[in-house]
Amino acid sequence: MCIFCKISKGEIPSKKILEDDNFIAFYDINPQTKVHALAIPKTHYKDFNEIPAKLMCQFSSFMQEVVKELNIKESGYRLITNSGYDSAQEVPHIHFHILGGEKLGTKIV
Ligand code: AMP
Repeated sequence: MCIFCKISKGEIPSKKILEDDNFIAFYDINPQTKVHALAIPKTHYKDFNEIPAKLMCQFSSFMQEVVKELNIKESGYRLITNSGYDSAQEVPHIHFHILGGEKLGTKIV
């Protein structure tokens, strides 16, 4: 089972921010910015290519709630999802990085 499936089942610990029936958000273990959260669907989909559009729509609403919870809705944030080999995706379970809490650089990569 992949590491994010284990997190969603509570089999390995995470610093949880928000959870509902379909999604979980938790803090990244190796933060790249002052606020660095990850949001995942509980069901395993490898990457953005695989997640059904209807679930992605619900996922977007969930992430809007996460940014409120993180108090970065007004200050701003960046959402990133890596998908596939060229992106250097490390964990093959779709996730969005939610990055903020400070002024980010203008370069995305
Ligand atoms: P990616 O390169 O987009 O696949 O990013 C994977 C992210 O997962 C990295 O930012 C890691 O720091 C993060 N990560 C890996 N394992 C854990 C974990 N157990 N808890 C929280 N974040 C993790």
